[in-house]
Amino acid sequence: MIYMLDESGCFTYLNDRTRVLLGYDKNHLLGTPISKLVHDEDLEQVDQLIHIEKSASFVNRVLRLHTADNQIRHFDFEVLPIQLGVTNGLTSILPGKTNFEGVFGVARDVTARIKAEETISYQAYHDLLTNLPNRGLFEDRTDMAIAQAKRNDQMFALMFLDLDRFKLINDTLGHPLGDLMLKAIAQRLQACVREGDTLARFGGDEFTLLLPLIRGEADAVLIAEKIKTALKTPFQIEGHELFTSVSIGIALYPRDGHNLRELITHADTAMYAIKQRGKNGHQLYQSEFDNPCPDRIVIENDLRRALDREEFTLHYQPQVDVMTGKMSGLEALVRWDHPEQGQLLPVEFIDIAEQSGMVVPLGKWVIEKAIQDWTSWEARGLRIDRIAVNISPLQIAQPSFADDVIEVLASYAMPATFLEIEITEGMLMDDTSDAIAKLRQLSEHGINIAIDDFGTGYSSLSYLKKFPLRTLKIDRAFIEDIESKDVDAYLVNAIVSIAKGLELELVAEGVETWAQLEYLKARGCDKVQGFLFSKAVTANEVERLVRADNVSNRLVGV
Ligand code: C2E
Ligand code: MG
Ligand code: MG
Repeated sequence: MIYMLDESGCFTYLNDRTRVLLGYDKNHLLGTPISKLVHDEDLEQVDQLIHIEKSASFVNRVLRLHTADNQIRHFDFEVLPIQLGVTNGLTSILPGKTNFEGVFGVARDVTARIKAEETISYQAYHDLLTNLPNRGLFEDRTDMAIAQAKRNDQMFALMFLDLDRFKLINDTLGHPLGDLMLKAIAQRLQACVREGDTLARFGGDEFTLLLPLIRGEADAVLIAEKIKTALKTPFQIEGHELFTSVSIGIALYPRDGHNLRELITHADTAMYAIKQRGKNGHQLYQSEFDNPCPDRIVIENDLRRALDREEFTLHYQPQVDVMTGKMSGLEALVRWDHPEQGQLLPVEFIDIAEQSGMVVPLGKWVIEKAIQDWTSWEARGLRIDRIAVNISPLQIAQPSFADDVIEVLASYAMPATFLEIEITEGMLMDDTSDAIAKLRQLSEHGINIAIDDFGTGYSSLSYLKKFPLRTLKIDRAFIEDIESKDVDAYLVNAIVSIAKGLELELVAEGVETWAQLEYLKARGCDKVQGFLFSKAVTANEVERLVRADNVSNRLVGV
């Protein structure tokens, strides 16, 4: 479209293309200000099309124009200022004028190109399955939120959401159905957030949520709870009724991080913390979660292969009966003989195994190996009265956990009463009904259940009564300072009374000195475990220890 505008911005010339491009008759528009055609949001730019420096060459602007049939099209305006005298042959175009000052321009319809660019940029910034912003856009928005919050001294929340057990849906029902499920979940999540919040698909079954306007952590927690509730209703997808839940980690700016990386990492760490405690819930970031481990990635990769390569071994630490001085049982403790790093202790890899889910097959191996070892000791005439195995929350969360344990016992013909499983307090706190049912099943089958590291978690007496427990293990942190710290000594006394009151057997962990042993014995603690008697040893060494009765010999004279 070729046109001319006078100083006031009215059309003084239009060519015939006007009709094709805008649908207007050109004569109809002559004398009309161009601003009449321009989209409201672009009006500010009109001035730049009319009043151009005389010396300027071309000026380029893309503006939106209304067409006769009420559409909006994008035009690329190329404008040149002109000054014309009547003598140069334009009198037919400018009748009656002797002199003309204005602009001459060409406007090209670039709607198709703009639309294509918009699509490309949409695709670059959105996840095409769910139509949610993608990771790139989320990161941009977070950077903006940081700048804004910094300027205005405000806080905001960043959440990391990970669907629980989503892999199961993909694996059992196939990816097309998994995709439909993800879409449906995204819609439900979106309905929980306000305008101005950014919900993004971060990748796979991970979502991130930016809440730029919150007053405090309570606001973020509220949204997290809203999400949890929203996902409770099952999804109906192609005739399947599907359930899902989500684990949410929350980081707050500026408390939990000052930049994008810190906030995302910390929200992610908090998310893992909730996963560990049995999933489906939310967790605010706490600095205690940080457990810097430079080899983390290496370990995670190696873990996947370690089971196949048979790099794990089980060591056993004796438990000793305080009254008789005899070994009363063993606790199985896993070790990893890493090909490069040497022997690794559980602190160095159990966390990572839990986060990657590897703890499930590893835990299965531990149970089977312990049962196998017990059976072969038994076959050689070595009676071990109790063998205790540590269980991760993730293992209990497996639907077939209880059945699996019972099955392994049966396949080795080991009576259930010789097996004890150690769980931690945290495991009993949420999503309990499911765990209770499995623990009850195991307990009814004759397996003993012990609470490990007692006193370090959420000690609530009411749940101790709810569970089919047999044993409490006092965490070694309390034993450590028995002699020096009154508070800990009182705590030990209190735990001893709790155990007596609930008729639970009490095992003190980490007993290293005779003085500690005497103190515990005087209070009526039943069993002890610790370096005073033995550290964890290999299965072969167990045999030697028992045959030589080394353990109890150490107790002679106590
Ligand atoms: P835990 O179940 O509380 O095990 C006791 C830990 O205390 C063991 O560390 C043991 O070696 C250590 N210990 C025992 N006596 C003493 C002592 O007198 N002094 C001191 N300072 N420490 C003592 P370990 O073997 O490094 O295990 C650490 C934790 O790893 C265990 O704590 C348990 O929670 C976890 N774990 C170990 N094996 C397994 C397993 O097979 N599966 C799972 N899920 N977790 C395991
Ligand atoms: Mg233990
Ligand atoms: Mg313990």
